[in-house]
Amino acid sequence: MYTIIGAGIGGLTTALVFEKLNIKYQLFEKSKAPNALGAGIWLAPNALQVLEFAGVLDAIFKVGNVVNRITLSNEKLKLLVDSSQLPAKEKYGFSTLAIHRAKLQLALIEAIPKDKIHWNKAFKSFKQLNNTVSVDFTDGSQTETKYLIGADGINSKVRSQLFTKSQIRYSGQTCWRGVMKTALPPEYKDRGIEMWGKGIRFGLSQLSNNETSWFAVKNSEAFQKDDKTVLKEKLSTLYKDFHPIVQELINNTDIKDILRNDITDLKPIKHWQKDTICLIGDAAHAITPNMGQGGAQAIEDAYYLGKLIVENKNKNIFEQFEKKRYKRVNSIVKQSWYTGKIANLKTGTTIRNNIFSIIPTKLIDRNMHSVYNLKD
Ligand SMILES: Cc1cc2nc3c(=O)[nH]c(=O)nc-3n(C[C@H](O)[C@H](O)[C@H](O)COP(=O)(O)OP(=O)(O)OC[C@H]3O[C@@H](n4cnc5c(N)ncnc54)[C@H](O)[C@@H]3O)c2cc1C
Repeated sequence: MYTIIGAGIGGLTTALVFEKLNIKYQLFEKSKAPNALGAGIWLAPNALQVLEFAGVLDAIFKVGNVVNRITLSNEKLKLLVDSSQLPAKEKYGFSTLAIHRAKLQLALIEAIPKDKIHWNKAFKSFKQLNNTVSVDFTDGSQTETKYLIGADGINSKVRSQLFTKSQIRYSGQTCWRGVMKTALPPEYKDRGIEMWGKGIRFGLSQLSNNETSWFAVKNSEAFQKDDKTVLKEKLSTLYKDFHPIVQELINNTDIKDILRNDITDLKPIKHWQKDTICLIGDAAHAITPNMGQGGAQAIEDAYYLGKLIVENKNKNIFEQFEKKRYKRVNSIVKQSWYTGKIANLKTGTTIRNNIFSIIPTKLIDRNMHSVYNLKD
């Protein structure tokens, strides 16, 4: 029996993959019920290939919006990079899907048998016994399991007991995310757009016929709070030099649909597993959102873990899992961290933009495709 802690993107996908492969599991989540918080998220082709394997593709395509073109531009929407996602679609079966995070999670939850998800069960600690692991929850209850999987996110409690030392790094950037309750003008419908300015950037994509998601990233001290009564005005002023569509998005988004998070990641840790306990997703390797790969890598973890369990019954699965995934994931952690630094440069932005505008699309596509490629 596998016990999974955390019903986020990684834990839910693990449950679905285990369901598909007939691996016994139980999933425990601290929230009382599925929570509808969050904004837009991009699911890259590597994530979509796994979600197809897990059998939830139709459900998520029904509530998401396909992005066939990813563009990087200056603040006025003058193109620097224009990447058609159709070659990726031809190669991997999918381009990118933009979807509301709450809808994604609901679609995943609905595909899991109800008796296998236990809500309102916050992990407290574990105890390694002879052949099993005993898990304590904060409500005083307990469960015993052969294997424990910590999918409990960047602030993982499983991680903090398994490895006492780990460091969450602040990127020096804060991010506002909003969902406007209308679609974009038709010419933008299938585009994922990112605009780079000086020390600030703005991105957007349509999520469904009546939702558009945006994000605004600014260099900032950590832990700052917003005065909600003036936040929209503040963002409007901050982005006054950007293309007018930015003002439209900020002005037409309800203040309750704007969230703020500081951008962080997990400084790579030496190991993700020990004996019969393993971390996956953000608990093992939280990634800054600059490449839209944090969730995708959590989803990939679920796939590879499931495959290793059924293919290598007598070996140390968790050790093999770490061996298979460690290099790829940490190279994405690193690349994403530096992408964020370049995207939010305060000076030298003309040179930066000139360089990006002459990078051959082929080179950019090759890099993207190496991330999209789900190798067996
Ligand atoms: C601004 C932003 C934008 C992003 N955009 C993208 C994107 O476009 N594409 C992409 O692929 N990724 C994106 N990401 C990254 C992505 O959100 C994460 O990598 C992903 O959510 C990780 O999934 P997870 O399941 O590991 O962790 P989480 O989604 O954080 O889930 C952890 C779960 O564990 C539960 N939990 C926590 N503690 C306990 C406990 N003690 N007991 C029981 N349950 C517990 C939590 O309630 C939660 O449900 C973005 C991240 C940010 C911050």
